[in-house]
Amino acid sequence: RGRGGAGFPVGTKWRTVAENGVTYGDRPVVVVNAAEGEPGTFKDRSIIRNNPYRVVEGALIAARAVGATRIVIASKADYAIEVARLNGAVSEMQVAGIVGHGLEVDVFEGPHEYLYGEESALLEAIDGRGPFPRVTPTFRVGLRGEENHSILGSGPALINNVESIANVPSILQRGSRWFRSIGTCESPGSVVCTVTGDVRHAGVAEVRLGTTLRQVLRFVGGGPVPGRPIKAVLPGVANPVITRDQFGVEVSYEGLGDIGAGMGSCGFIAFAEDTDMVAVAAGVARFLSVESCGQCSPCKLDGIDLAALLAKLANNAAGDHEFRQINRRLATVARGARCYLGTQQELVLSSLLAAFPDEFQGHVSCTLPPAEPIHIAELVDILDGRAIHDERHREKRPDWTFGTTESGHVPVEIRNRETRAGLRANG
Ligand code: SF4
Repeated sequence: RGRGGAGFPVGTKWRTVAENGVTYGDRPVVVVNAAEGEPGTFKDRSIIRNNPYRVVEGALIAARAVGATRIVIASKADYAIEVARLNGAVSEMQVAGIVGHGLEVDVFEGPHEYLYGEESALLEAIDGRGPFPRVTPTFRVGLRGEENHSILGSGPALINNVESIANVPSILQRGSRWFRSIGTCESPGSVVCTVTGDVRHAGVAEVRLGTTLRQVLRFVGGGPVPGRPIKAVLPGVANPVITRDQFGVEVSYEGLGDIGAGMGSCGFIAFAEDTDMVAVAAGVARFLSVESCGQCSPCKLDGIDLAALLAKLANNAAGDHEFRQINRRLATVARGARCYLGTQQELVLSSLLAAFPDEFQGHVSCTLPPAEPIHIAELVDILDGRAIHDERHREKRPDWTFGTTESGHVPVEIRNRETRAGLRANG
């Protein structure tokens, strides 16, 4: 099962892409999604830093399996260490005669944006356009090239994330029975987890699927900070919150699914008993509303409203009227969403409202102290057990600029205008 979040079977995806390549007469391209940007997650970058060869080797096997002649490992320009490790591994493997043989391997340095990790947005960015999700399925139409906007003549893309691809060499070498001897029946193998937040130390480690969340928090993060028991865990910002009474859940697709949560990218952000969960909700809403691209109005506009309303509520500056507005926006934010981001707002915020109703009411009635939104952003690094967050995101605005004045436009409008201006300049 793919380790990118949805747990979709890798073999099924490979078979579909290989068949589409034959059916439509175009060679597939293998794209490794190394654009990890989920808040609280640092596993793909850890894998690349520790063993980039496994990633390249897995991609070579995938290319052989689906008949691809091109591999693109899509990282971010900001990820200097990972880009250097990947380029170094590709060069060494070329010298060793492992890479080559008619197969082109490129390391692409993409934009910083969260949406770039969405697989169709990833392809758009590689093609030189903005990282905006598209409708056409990637397993049918892959890269189209900067000039070629036609969907004809574009082979399908096989997109797997770093961890999925890094598992491939061992499975091929040791067999599926060996792989299935680890983990659970429905979730075979191991998974690389990140634990940050209110734990003794932030960390990344590989665990058997089926390990309980409580054990993961203890093994990877050292457990709760003394005197500050953990009351909730967010699995990134893509799945509902997990509360203390659920910490015995197995970390597996079926285990987390059974409690209405999800694996996501196995990045667990822990919140101690004294955390204001309305401030957490405000931080999540802000992150997602800023990162929304604006192709779907409810996602961007309701998302911005949610972030503002929740920030007001956390600051004890909102009452019953605003609280009703929050619930109304949650009912519409995911309407017509082209990608999953709008649904993330709905899922995560609704789960926080349901799990901590007293805290929300405490801010409506001003019986709790005012609080600022908690900073939710991508991890830049984990150093000596300390999680380093992207502080620059505090200044990022909903139009994806960092200036002092808000343009009033959404990112997709700004990029389209730039593209039109570029085309006019080029005649
Ligand atoms: Fe963009 Fe949101 Fe629409 Fe996704 S759902 S394409 S992030 S506006």
